[in-house]
Amino acid sequence: MRSLHHYIGGRTVEGRSGRDGPVFDPATGEQSATVAYASADETRAAITAAAEAFPEWAATPPLRRARIMFRFKELVEANIGEIASLVTAEHGKTLSDAKGSITRGVEVVEFACGIPHLLKGEYSDNVGTGVDSWSLRQPLGVCAGITPFNFPAMVPMWMFPVAIACGNTFILKPSEKDPSCALRLAELMGDAGLPPGVFNVLNGDREAVETLLEDERVAAVSFVGSTAVAEQVYRRATTAGKRVQALGGAKNHMVVMPDADLEQAADALMGAAFGSAGERCMAISVAVTVGDAGDALVEKLAPRVRALKVGPGSDPDSDMGPLVTQAHFERVKGYIDAGEKDGADLVVDGRGVSLQGYEGGYYMGGNLFDNVTPEMSIYTDEIFGPVLSVVRRDDFEGALKLVNEHEYGNGAAIFTRDGDAAREFSHRAQAGMVGVNVPIPVPMAFHSFGGWKRSLFGDHFMHGPEGVRFYTKMKTVTSRWPTGIRQGAEYIMPTMK
Ligand code: NAD
Repeated sequence: MRSLHHYIGGRTVEGRSGRDGPVFDPATGEQSATVAYASADETRAAITAAAEAFPEWAATPPLRRARIMFRFKELVEANIGEIASLVTAEHGKTLSDAKGSITRGVEVVEFACGIPHLLKGEYSDNVGTGVDSWSLRQPLGVCAGITPFNFPAMVPMWMFPVAIACGNTFILKPSEKDPSCALRLAELMGDAGLPPGVFNVLNGDREAVETLLEDERVAAVSFVGSTAVAEQVYRRATTAGKRVQALGGAKNHMVVMPDADLEQAADALMGAAFGSAGERCMAISVAVTVGDAGDALVEKLAPRVRALKVGPGSDPDSDMGPLVTQAHFERVKGYIDAGEKDGADLVVDGRGVSLQGYEGGYYMGGNLFDNVTPEMSIYTDEIFGPVLSVVRRDDFEGALKLVNEHEYGNGAAIFTRDGDAAREFSHRAQAGMVGVNVPIPVPMAFHSFGGWKRSLFGDHFMHGPEGVRFYTKMKTVTSRWPTGIRQGAEYIMPTMK
C-alpha cells in the first residue's frame, strides 16, 4: 500500500500527525493508498517554508518566472499520460476525459507564461508640473489553494500557475480523495527549476484548512468545492483579513427552445450531463424544454442514455467511469430514490449497474427524469452524479425565470436558432458563464471562470485577467525630482498647477 505525504520546501516531507485517511480506486472499490493529514503544527511549518521563499521569489524578474512556467508546461505535456493515469486511478473518470482536463490546466500555464506582459502597469507623464505617476501590481505573499476531488489537476492549475507567476508563493491543499496528482505536479514544478518553498502541497482535512484560514502569514485563499464549505471558508478567511475567492456548487440549466436543432441539443446534453459521470461543476443537470420541445427531446434522449457505456476509466470503450466513493454513490442513489418518491417520471433508471470483474466499483448508469418540478430535491440540490432532470415550461420567460430563481448561478445555456432569444438570454441570465448553443461554456484560460449567486463568494473570478488582479495588489507611485527651485511647505490639498 502506498503512503502519500506532503511536498514542502522542495522535497517530500513525511506526515507526523499520526492521522491519515484512505484513498480508493473507484473502479474496483479497493484501497490504493493512505494519505497523511497534516496537523496544525505541520501546516504552520509549510506556511513558514512558503513565507521564507517569498521575498526572493517576489524579487525574481517576471521573465525568469515565466521561463520556469514554459518548462513546467513542457514537462506536464511530456508526462500527460502518467498524470492522467493518476487522475483516473483515484477519481475514476475516463483517461481521455482526464487528459482533456489536464490540457485545460496547461492552457492556464500558457496564460501565465505571458506574465511580463500581464504585469505591465500604467504610466501618466506630467500629472502636475514635473510630476509623473504610475501604477504597478505587486504580489501578495503566501497564497493558499483548497481544491475539490472532481478536477485534481485542472482546478489547482486554475490557481497556482497564475499566483506563482505573479510572484507569490503557494500552498495547495488538494482533496484527500485524490491527492497523488497534486504531488506529481509539485515534483514537476521542482524539475522545471522552481526554487524550494515556492510551491508546496500539504495533504489533509479540516484541521489543515482551518490553520491556513487563521494564520496571519497567509495573504489570500482560493477555494473551490461545495457551497456550504465555500461560504464557511469565505466568512472565516475574510474575518481573518484575507483576500478570498471561494467557488461553490452549481445546478446548471440548459434551455431548449422549440426552434433548436434537437439532434444537436440531445447530443450536447449527453456530454454535458453524463461526461465525468456528472461530477463537474459545469455539468448540465437540468434541461428546461420550452413548448413542444419537451416530448421530442425526451424521445431523443432516452435511447442515448440507455446506450451509455459505463466501465472503468482505464477502458477506452467507457463513456463514463464510476463515481468517486461509496459514500458519494449512496448519496446520488438517495436522490434518485427521492425523485421517484416525489413523483417525477424516471424514464431511464441507472441504479443497479454491476460489472463483471468490477463488482466492488462504484458504477452507476445514466438516469433521466421527466416532468420534474422546482420543489423536488432532484431539482433544488446539486446531485453531482449522472442524473439529468427535464423540467417543462410553456415559454421563454418561464424558462428564464427558472434559471434566475435557482440559488446557484454558475453556468447556463440556451439552444436555439433565434438570435433574439439568444441575445435576451445572454443579457438576462443570472449566471457567471453563459452558453449559446454551447452546453458547457467554460471560459478559456485568457478569460476568467466563475459563477454568480451562491456559486461564488468573493469578488474575483479565477484565472485570466481576474486571476492576475486577485493575486496582486495595486500600487500607485507619484514622483517628482528636485529641480533646485525650493517652494517651501504647502498646507493645502495639492491640485494640478
Ligand atoms: P468539498 O467542499 O467537500 O471539498 C473541497 C475541499 O474542501 C477539499 O479540499 C476538502 O478537503 C475541503 N473541506 C471539506 N470539508 C471541509 C470543512 N468542513 N472545512 C474545511 N475544509 C473542508 O467538495 P468536493 O466534494 O471535493 O467537490 C465537489 C464540489 O465542488 C461540488 O459542489 C462542485 O460543484 C464543486 N466544484 C465547484 C467548482 C466551481 O468552479 N464552482 C469547480 C469544481 C467543483
